[in-house]
Amino acid sequence: MHVQEGRVLLPAAAAALVLLADLVGFVEGPIESAPAAVEPAPPVIPAPPPLTRAEIFAQLPVNGWVPVFIPTAAVIRAGMAVPTTTAGYNPNLTFTFDDCGDPATVGAIVDVLQQSQRQALFFITGQCRDRYPWLIPQLQAAGQLTCNHTYSHPDLRRLSNAAIRAEIAAGVLAGCPYFRPPYGGWDGPRGRIALIAAQFGLRVLLWDVDTRDWAGAGAATMVAAVRARGGVVLFHLHGLHTLEAVQALA
Ligand SMILES: [Zn+2]
Repeated sequence: MHVQEGRVLLPAAAAALVLLADLVGFVEGPIESAPAAVEPAPPVIPAPPPLTRAEIFAQLPVNGWVPVFIPTAAVIRAGMAVPTTTAGYNPNLTFTFDDCGDPATVGAIVDVLQQSQRQALFFITGQCRDRYPWLIPQLQAAGQLTCNHTYSHPDLRRLSNAAIRAEIAAGVLAGCPYFRPPYGGWDGPRGRIALIAAQFGLRVLLWDVDTRDWAGAGAATMVAAVRARGGVVLFHLHGLHTLEAVQALA
């Protein structure tokens, strides 16, 4: 009721003001009796296009390979490569295969595992998955577990929490509950890398035996190391003699 009255009265009041201003000569220009114009909406700034993976991740695969870190004794002493099972011999071998490799070698390794009915963990990088889109489905069809090893294989200890999250999110998330930080580089079970992995439902899994296949170790040396220690065995899909060692052990 009051509002309605106001609307009716306002033009009359404005007209009275115009009349008064004309009479006293205060106002030089015409007075707008219409309501003030509504302030125009600010122009809509379009959102920037989403970044491409190449823009987010500086390291790009070269010939399907990823950089391989060679841990020094100091790195191992500092606790960066930590065995995940108790010390001593563990006859239950868990084969794990990291990074990426040429399709023929990967296929041959999978065939050996399938013939011996052995399930292994494949820590494939997201870059490897993108390069070989058929790889994850093929591994899963062969009964293998495909696990997260980040997208571009960086040393996560040097990254921000947001960057670690982005690396894991763009990596392989295909039902495997394990996460292996590249180079075994993490900051311990209560560190931020393990905590961020846990937000994805992943547990950090390192290894008991580093076969050093990435450094070109011979098959016999690798087989001896695996038989002496057992447990979780670290192989790489790009190891020079990895296939021979797996054939001997499977
Ligand atoms: Zn790796």
